[in-house]
Amino acid sequence: MRLSVATIDLAALLANYQALQAQGRPGKVLAVVKANAYGHGLIPCALALAPVVDGFAVAFAEEGAALRQAGVRAPIVVLEGALNREEWSAFAHHRLWPVIHHADHLGALMGFARCGKPLPEQLWVKIDTGMHRLGFSPCQARSVAESLSKLGVDRNRVVWITHLACADEPKHDANALALNRFAQTLAALPDPFQPPICSIANSAALLAIPAAASHWARPGIALYGASPFADRSLPAPLRPVMTLTAPIMATRWIDAGEQVGYGGAFVAEQRTRVGVVAIGYADGYPRTAPTGTPVAVEGRITRTIGRVSMDMLTIDLTDLPETVGVGSSVELWGAAVSVDAVAAQAGTIGYELLCRVQRVSYHYCGMESPLCQ
Ligand SMILES: *Cc1c(COP(=O)(O)O)cnc(C)c1O
Repeated sequence: MRLSVATIDLAALLANYQALQAQGRPGKVLAVVKANAYGHGLIPCALALAPVVDGFAVAFAEEGAALRQAGVRAPIVVLEGALNREEWSAFAHHRLWPVIHHADHLGALMGFARCGKPLPEQLWVKIDTGMHRLGFSPCQARSVAESLSKLGVDRNRVVWITHLACADEPKHDANALALNRFAQTLAALPDPFQPPICSIANSAALLAIPAAASHWARPGIALYGASPFADRSLPAPLRPVMTLTAPIMATRWIDAGEQVGYGGAFVAEQRTRVGVVAIGYADGYPRTAPTGTPVAVEGRITRTIGRVSMDMLTIDLTDLPETVGVGSSVELWGAAVSVDAVAAQAGTIGYELLCRVQRVSYHYCGMESPLCQ
């Protein structure tokens, strides 16, 4: 088993969810577990949340089916909806709630109804309020509602959903504009859909845009204790769920003027003790992280030096005690070094780093479950 380990603190995950749930009240809160629960492991995370969760959201039907196969009974919203006609049968079979965001989807539902097949229990209808990625435009909303009425779908089976393009900057003008468009669109829906049930907020909006409060919030990244904001702040009491560690596999002293790693990208200014750590970009540690990216060794912060390789990276041990050596554990991110600090150095966001972790061992802790060792 790899000694490079992603330790997943399920107690922290649960506590983060409960903090977000409190924030979302009186609305409900979907735990977004797409992309293998942002790299934390879909099934263990979902099972840890299952006793308290209002529902889950995933990107694709396949992820929803995996949750059902693991015994999850809570509502599951599939954010990207169906990718083709075949997928619709998975929605009925696994009791998944699709996001309907395209005219093709209405066509498929009508086809279902004509064949006497059951429609999904709930339909989430997406309105494009300015992101221009998925969703019906505001002016199409009325006719979508009328089509749903013809299918016998009433207010209680529809959730009107939108997604904010700039929630990571809560004061951005685009947020107020999108929220206004959404409110106007909902106000113009025909009577049988009034008052509409809706879903707006991702993590950032739930935490920082009170006007985005709705019946169902959809936080993802905040559940995992990483920042949803452009300024990379993480509000208390959220705390990191993943700690990524790897062992030191070799150490050496080099003289001033000597280089380290590919391209000689680091040149020692003084005699330097180099530690080689058994993790690299093939495991999801970003190759773009430059010299100076923080890491923690036995509670002390030091830095990477030179380029990140596929299977290893190098760190500066010069100022650390001699007891740090082969076998010592290095934290790449977690409680001591936030994933957002690494992301800032690497020119990306915590989201990408977390969901790219692979080829490491997963240890689940913090909860009494057969998964926890
Ligand atoms: C991924 C996603 C979310 C969760 O976003 P976070 O920024 O991780 O909270 C919410 N809604 C939709 C539509 C998404 O695709």
